Amino acid sequence: MDKEERKNFILIADDEPVICSNLKEYLEYEGFSVLTASNGRIALDMFKTNDVDLVISDIVMPELDGISLIKEIKDIDIDVPVVIMTAFPTIDYSVEAMKAGAFDFISKPFDFKRVLFVIDKALETRRLRELAKRSEHYKKLSNLDGLTEIYNHRFIKQLIDREIKRHIRYSGTLCVLMIDIDDFKKVNDTHGHPAGDLVLIKAAELIKKSIRGCDILSRYGGEEFLVALPVTPIEDAKFVADRIVKSFNVDTFEIGKDKEPISLTVTIGLAAFPDNANNKDELIGNADKALYEGKNNGKNRVVVFS
Ligand code: GH3
Ligand code: MG
Ligand code: MG
Repeated sequence: MDKEERKNFILIADDEPVICSNLKEYLEYEGFSVLTASNGRIALDMFKTNDVDLVISDIVMPELDGISLIKEIKDIDIDVPVVIMTAFPTIDYSVEAMKAGAFDFISKPFDFKRVLFVIDKALETRRLRELAKRSEHYKKLSNLDGLTEIYNHRFIKQLIDREIKRHIRYSGTLCVLMIDIDDFKKVNDTHGHPAGDLVLIKAAELIKKSIRGCDILSRYGGEEFLVALPVTPIEDAKFVADRIVKSFNVDTFEIGKDKEPISLTVTIGLAAFPDNANNKDELIGNADKALYEGKNNGKNRVVVFS
């Protein structure tokens, strides 16, 4: 069953049977599945063998006390909330329990409304934390760069590998352009990192306007973009690269409401397969070498690898 659809599983640990049974009855009425344990040791065993979403535990119990139970549980799964209940919620106990990782306190005798409130809050916190983790995970798996939403470094390398195989089969020229924004560090230093981020997004959009739909645009590094131009002779690729350099000379970049738009230039290194390289790494490496030459010769230009 899907985790969202199934009832939340709550484990109660208390050495007073009447507490366990009252709380169990109340929580089951509220729609939870409930397990009870008469001490910390039994609770820990139950925790290990059941898919528990939340634990409510007494502090003073035989065998294994509440504080030790929290620590053991947190070792197994840090995200499972543990709510402590106690007849004497002294400050010492609460500090100790919080340090061990307790989510919150409820005091005996119970105010059932507060019990329910704390449980809902704990489960909601856990759910949000899981969602955040999942989206982080998917971002890592994604083929897109988080800022500019064009292909990322990892994915363009895969695509170039694929293109090289295709170009060997059909014997065409595959060109790549390594595009690096000139003196980009100054943008950050003068206008701040968020302005720099804005510029990167706009730069990606600007480059996209100069290339064809079948060309592949990626953010290769910080302020470096790598474009692959399938089935394109070097002269045509040079034409595209020149167009990109020109578009930066013409366009300006907005960096905020009350600020003057800024001007930027790019330097581009061009290399071709199979003309200048036998494989992906050589191809990208040679585009990089051409770029480096352009940087050393005044920037704002295209250099074709030779
Ligand atoms: P050059 O003309 O030689 O390319 O000089 P440059 O200043 O563009 O190059 P350098 O490599 O010295 O600096 C690149 C800067 O790009 C440094 C780094 O802080 C910045 N940068 C990298 N990634 C990001 C990002 O995601 N956002 C912002 N705002 N800045 C970034
Ligand atoms: Mg740069
Ligand atoms: Mg750079």
